[in-house]
Amino acid sequence: MWESIKKFFGINYKKTKNRSAESALKAMKNIVLFGPPGAGKGTQAEVLKQKYQLVHISTGDVFRYNIKNATALGTLAKSYMDKGHLVPDEVTINILNAEVEKNVDANGFIFDGFPRTAAQAKALANLMTEKNAQINAMVALEVDDEILVGRLLDRGKSSGRPDDANEGVIRERIAEYYRKTDILKEFYQAQDKYYGVDGVGSVEEITVRLRGVIDTL
Ligand code: AMP
Repeated sequence: MWESIKKFFGINYKKTKNRSAESALKAMKNIVLFGPPGAGKGTQAEVLKQKYQLVHISTGDVFRYNIKNATALGTLAKSYMDKGHLVPDEVTINILNAEVEKNVDANGFIFDGFPRTAAQAKALANLMTEKNAQINAMVALEVDDEILVGRLLDRGKSSGRPDDANEGVIRERIAEYYRKTDILKEFYQAQDKYYGVDGVGSVEEITVRLRGVIDTL
């Protein structure tokens, strides 16, 4: 009798455990908001995090915070950012992991400006697997290059960002995007997780387009 009770509870326990693991995987919404510099990722992430109660992680914001506070990380990051180049993967991946770990109770994340290389995309997939979660979608804001340059120069008038103030640096950031980042579309397309959205229009219009994708996830 005792054996059969144990067996009964054993099986039941296992089932419950599996079911909760499965629902945890489904419950989290993790979105990579993608696109070249100036596509509007940061602006849209701010809106979407409120609507979906998600934690917004921007590696660029973390670097700028560190520059402002004159940390060693800030000094290192600045030496790359000022040239329009990417900060090395090892540093960036560690930063991202730490930001995710700070938010253990999150319903999910909006990743803005990460991943930007194949190594970062793989590290993110591993991190999600460790958390029994996944990236649900890469949602990409599509904007022509010349519009991006115009937007960034315009933003540079008020953003205080040195990398927005110089057209040469802006063009280098866009070139870096095509060299190292654009290829990630294929990484997510291969998993059926890529969604392209027209990134030209008013902030509200673009939010509606993004919600049209996110609501189906
Ligand atoms: P963002 O605010 O996303 O436009 O990023 C500003 C700058 O920070 C970039 O031009 C890079 O120099 C650096 N950066 C931000 N995110 C990353 C990342 N995932 N990998 C490497 N560098 C990054």
